[in-house]
Amino acid sequence: MKVALNADVLLETLNGEGKWSQQRKSWADMHRFQLRPNGDFMIPAEPDSYLQAERKMEELLRSYVDQWLDSGRLDGAEQANRRNYHGAVEAVNRASLCVMNTPVRVAFPEDGSGDPDVTFGSTRWHTSGKDDPLALAEAEAALMLAQFLMSDLRFQLAKCRYPKCGKYFSLENGKVRRLHRNGTFCSTAHNRAATAAEATRKRRDDADQRLLKKAAEFFRTWRSKSSRVKSSSCPCIAGTKARTHS
Ligand SMILES: [Zn+2]
Repeated sequence: MKVALNADVLLETLNGEGKWSQQRKSWADMHRFQLRPNGDFMIPAEPDSYLQAERKMEELLRSYVDQWLDSGRLDGAEQANRRNYHGAVEAVNRASLCVMNTPVRVAFPEDGSGDPDVTFGSTRWHTSGKDDPLALAEAEAALMLAQFLMSDLRFQLAKCRYPKCGKYFSLENGKVRRLHRNGTFCSTAHNRAATAAEATRKRRDDADQRLLKKAAEFFRTWRSKSSRVKSSSCPCIAGTKARTHS
């Protein structure tokens, strides 16, 4: 089965580089006050709401896609071909719900062999009355998620684990089965930077632990010396003891 998915659009959306809000706003402006099939007139939404809806779409898609990517991670190590649906239950449920409510078209190969092509009906250009970019953006995010979870891209997609980057990118074929001990990185430079940052953090943690241990030892020594000095040299304590025993 080959699921139609525009990998470039998915990557652009995940990386916040998509053009969804521009396209949707242009479409709504172009069809302003046109009569819709249900008898309503098309009224564009507030201009700002298109960009807000696109941000919401990116946020939703990232949260579900991250859940899927994390299903192949353990203690920072990552292996793309170990990702599994059991580790991404919420994403799978959202995708299943979307598929149930979306028309699906299956085209069987004309030459009688190979995989059928599966295409989901787009929610993008259907609307009635006042445009609702937020509802459409949520539906678009769910549709892209469903297509992603059924496509080969689900194993090829990766996220740069350098905290200052976080870019989504496509893994080269040979790297899908490889165990990435420190996670996946979009470039050698980010791999090095993240590894150096982790080594520095570990050195700091080790130094902190050593200092804490030393402080605890010092405190124990000081307390035992201090109690010895008090009990042997303080006349008040000696006198009190003497009176108590008499
Ligand atoms: Zn990066």
